[in-house]
Amino acid sequence: MSTSIQGYIVTLLEKKEIAKHVFELRFSKPEGFSYTPGQFVQFLIPNLEKKTPRAYSISSLPNDDYLEFCIKFLDGGIASEYFRSLNIGVATECKGPLGRFMVKDNPHETFFVATGVGLAPIIGMIRSLAEKKNEAHKIHLLFGVREEDDLFWIERLESMKQQYPQFDFAVTLSRPTLQWTGLKGRVTDHILQDIGTHACYLCGNVDMVKDVRTILLENGVHAENIHFEIF
Ligand SMILES: Cc1cc2nc3c(=O)[nH]c(=O)nc-3n(C[C@H](O)[C@H](O)[C@H](O)COP(=O)(O)OP(=O)(O)OC[C@H]3O[C@@H](n4cnc5c(N)ncnc54)[C@H](O)[C@@H]3O)c2cc1C
Repeated sequence: MSTSIQGYIVTLLEKKEIAKHVFELRFSKPEGFSYTPGQFVQFLIPNLEKKTPRAYSISSLPNDDYLEFCIKFLDGGIASEYFRSLNIGVATECKGPLGRFMVKDNPHETFFVATGVGLAPIIGMIRSLAEKKNEAHKIHLLFGVREEDDLFWIERLESMKQQYPQFDFAVTLSRPTLQWTGLKGRVTDHILQDIGTHACYLCGNVDMVKDVRTILLENGVHAENIHFEIF
């Protein structure tokens, strides 16, 4: 039996800058494409004579009629430069869905930690979890970026908070301006207290995931309750 992942052609519908170097891209959703929030697709980026695969987490929900991604454009990056110049209406190739970073059934509270574009898979995971669980199942998000210009989707998080009373979130900036009155420091400075029984989901760079995981383990969270995706 073949285990190859199916390929799809998707068309760019919308592209907008939502923070410094961070773009929200929406593509058409192919017929028959289904996935679980937290999963990613691999775009096959035309690169000279070959196609270079690059992974991007899906931030939309399965019943949305588009596929949404949140991509940090790195200067000189193969995929970043490709997406920077990709025009609306142009088709591109991807395959998926891929990955096992998805919410497991757990009776306890859930704690999400995201830094930067690590919020991409997590926002869909939170929305799908909040839809499934009742208000007794508390869902917390800690979102960290460097400075104010790096913030995005705060209005979306605010409206999720209105929609799902069991959801709350905190934002911390590691290098805020003097005007910033919110939390300051890295996400590691603001890990929740009394989280021994929580299910924890982390997404961001390798250092953040390593450091947060260490703190969670020290706080009594079992290793099997810590799930992560490293970008
Ligand atoms: C499971 C998974 C999910 C992911 N989801 C997301 C997501 O949702 N959003 C997101 O933004 N990212 C995501 N990523 C990261 C993404 O896959 C890419 O790694 C990232 O976008 C960079 O790709 P790129 O092709 O633009 O850069 P690359 O070409 O891979 O280059 C990476 C860096 O190296 C530099 N570089 C390249 N060539 C040279 C050179 N010759 N000399 C000096 N510097 C050089 C580039 O400027 C760039 O800064 C995810 C990764 C994984 C594994």
